[in-house]
Amino acid sequence: MINLSSLDINNKNLVIRVDMNVPIKNGNILDSTRIEASLPTIEYALKNNAKILLISHLGRPIEGEYEESFSLKPVAKYLSKIVNEPCNVIDDLDSKSFFNKESNIQLLENIRFFEGEKANCKDLGAKLASLGDIYVFDAFGTAHREQASTHSAIECAPVACAGLLLQRENKFLSLALNNHESPYVAVIGGAKVSSKLELIKHINSEADHIIVGGGIANTFLKAKGFDVGKSLFEDSMIDIAYNLIEKGKIILPKKVITSTTFEGKNVKETLVSEVGHNEMILDLHLEEETVALLEDAKTILWNGPMGVFENIVFEKGTKDLSIAVARSKAFSLAGGGETLSAINKYIKSNDVSYCSTGGGAFLEFMEGKTLPSIEVLNSK
Ligand code: AMP
Repeated sequence: MINLSSLDINNKNLVIRVDMNVPIKNGNILDSTRIEASLPTIEYALKNNAKILLISHLGRPIEGEYEESFSLKPVAKYLSKIVNEPCNVIDDLDSKSFFNKESNIQLLENIRFFEGEKANCKDLGAKLASLGDIYVFDAFGTAHREQASTHSAIECAPVACAGLLLQRENKFLSLALNNHESPYVAVIGGAKVSSKLELIKHINSEADHIIVGGGIANTFLKAKGFDVGKSLFEDSMIDIAYNLIEKGKIILPKKVITSTTFEGKNVKETLVSEVGHNEMILDLHLEEETVALLEDAKTILWNGPMGVFENIVFEKGTKDLSIAVARSKAFSLAGGGETLSAINKYIKSNDVSYCSTGGGAFLEFMEGKTLPSIEVLNSK
């Protein structure tokens, strides 16, 4: 894989695929983390005298149709401020002036407004690649999607390379995937086993211990024969969960926090064997011996909250876990939107060795899959 830092970009026109898919409400950016994550590449390019055309998607508009609520205009406005240069939004691919404008940075309108993006259309990919001298791929969050801007464009570009974010993601995720030191402790929480099944299967053969939490733990508890009352669990996953438990690595909660409503009525801490028929498990108690495993770990992989931490009543499991990860001297890797918001809420992002910007891409990478964008970059 060619890295941006190894190329001469002086006076070159760079087309950079970034992931600026940020939450926007009434034109205001609610969380700019993904924009911030793209800044090292943007700043590096500007400092080295290159002109930039950025490409990103935003949300899920109907392809081929313009819709104001999915426009990247608020992102361009925000970028202009932080890079201190005017950043215009370009909305047609036939514009003759991508790199002729006075400003060094432009942003193409939401790539999902253009027909052919989703289907990985070669014509669209070739068009995007032809707009500049070098196609830089830095959108780790979409590296698992085979689309025109994340795959065909790389394939068609005479020169394509990885941006600084992709380079970092690749380095740290590969470290945890291929060179983890033991004891290796994985923490998997969140809502559903089915959405993380491949990851759980993969780490079940790699990690020494897997701490499960959230709705995922409920499915495992049910598989062990516990009555989980009205808790979220997945019936179709029970047999699979049972087989995974058989390997002896899964660590289940012993005490949980239950309630009769999501809002937090009749909240109590109880043993997993004593959950009532009308109760839901919405958080867990992190046992001392589980904290000790994290303390002794050399590698920690964390994805997913331990409970419905958005509600303060059910945040303790996730909060205690965050603190335990922060205290551990292990190489710690965290990924996924909810996990990063828990980290920002209870600890600091630099309390974790590396926080990945990927959700689906992070899961697939850690399952041991080669992501399509990375595969095509490697083939150049
Ligand atoms: P995920 O995207 O799979 O990581 O799921 C994150 C979501 O799982 C969060 O929004 C949590 O509120 C939710 N969650 C965590 N624990 C539970 C639980 N015990 N029951 C229902 N939802 C949960």
